[in-house]
Amino acid sequence: MQHYRPETLCVQGGYTPGNGEPRQIPIVQSTTFKYATSQDMGKLFDLEANGYFYSRLQNPTCDYVAAKIAALEGGTAAMLTSSGQAANFFALFNIATCGDHIVSSSSIYGGTFNLIAVTMAKMGIQVTFVSPDCSDEELEAAFRPNTKAVFGETIANPALTVLDIERFAAAAHAHGVPLIVDNTFATPVGCRPFDWGADIVTHSTTKYMDGHGVAVGGAIVDSGKFDWMAHADKFPGLCTPDESYHGITYAEKFGQAGAFITKCTAQLMRDFGCTQSPQSAFYLNLGLESLHVRMARHCENGQAVAEFLASHPKVESVHYCGLPGDPYHALAQKYLPHGSCGVVSFEVKGGRPAAEVFMSHLRLAAIETHVADARTCCLNPATSTHRQMTEEQLQEAGIPAGLIRLSCGLENKEDLIDDLRQALEAI
Ligand code: PLP
Repeated sequence: MQHYRPETLCVQGGYTPGNGEPRQIPIVQSTTFKYATSQDMGKLFDLEANGYFYSRLQNPTCDYVAAKIAALEGGTAAMLTSSGQAANFFALFNIATCGDHIVSSSSIYGGTFNLIAVTMAKMGIQVTFVSPDCSDEELEAAFRPNTKAVFGETIANPALTVLDIERFAAAAHAHGVPLIVDNTFATPVGCRPFDWGADIVTHSTTKYMDGHGVAVGGAIVDSGKFDWMAHADKFPGLCTPDESYHGITYAEKFGQAGAFITKCTAQLMRDFGCTQSPQSAFYLNLGLESLHVRMARHCENGQAVAEFLASHPKVESVHYCGLPGDPYHALAQKYLPHGSCGVVSFEVKGGRPAAEVFMSHLRLAAIETHVADARTCCLNPATSTHRQMTEEQLQEAGIPAGLIRLSCGLENKEDLIDDLRQALEAI
């Protein structure tokens, strides 16, 4: 399947039914699986045989959908998680542990910022945040001998900065560590970070992949390109025997293509249990089937709305990398040649009070803690998703207090623009 183009993979990737089998991915709504002998079961526990024994670790429905996402990203292995938060936590914690350090772009989703800066710090994992626009020298200076990963978002939520994936990958590799990229906003239809040197990709599948606002979920994909054994001293969890899993050395037994995801499943999913339900995976697959069709419309609507806002006298600034004047336009042309996404961030003149008036007058765009689905929605990050950040941290992340994040859905673009126009007039 891997050689098919994205449109075909969206529809048919991950699952090929045999003779007389269901055409649509079956929902295997079972917590457990039956075996004839305990020896059969033992082989599964020892990772000596392929198969399922308990849906907390793996389930066929989730695996079909993970395989589709792996094919779309051009990776070798993938797994689903209960949320995008779980995906980012697992991807980082799979290689960074107490006493380790991470380099992360400061321009990331507020929940991920909190996860890394606060919760993972409590676990003894330190972070150095760098601006996605930092110089090569500043990026270099962020690394420490105990750095285990570099993290960033292809298109950051909500600042809409574009990560220079090639540059960040080169810096990570020069220090013998992988680049982990959260590709939620771009989706593999818009950008495949592995093509530019990223090693691990994560997703909040809750967003465009599902696309209808029905199922919270996440995914982790491995490119299979990072040579863990070449940096065995940095990654003992992958390169030395796991006593909690029958003494398996993941990088030896599963090689570059499978070690990361197998360890993540066998250890982290076993212990934390942040698994996606088969029912949610089924909904996610329905979203994936039309991802390539929907993303084109989201991008078209985002572009039209960004152009309208940029020309409106009551708008202070617009952030959308599809606009020629945007600081990330050149990077977007390189990494996102078919369009970026439907999310547009902007500031109305008059700051937070004006933003409140504007938002209260919207008719089509609902105020929601969501983004990237079929229905247009908006929010003020400083008072919602990013409210745990200080004024200083908000500035560093490129999020002024009056910023509005508008997620253009799949409605008619003229209707969306009319709605924005009348709300702007109300200020
Ligand atoms: N990554 C990005 C870029 C996000 O926008 C979000 C949520 O908005 C997350 C991760 C977290 O995903 P979830 O809400 O599915 O846990």
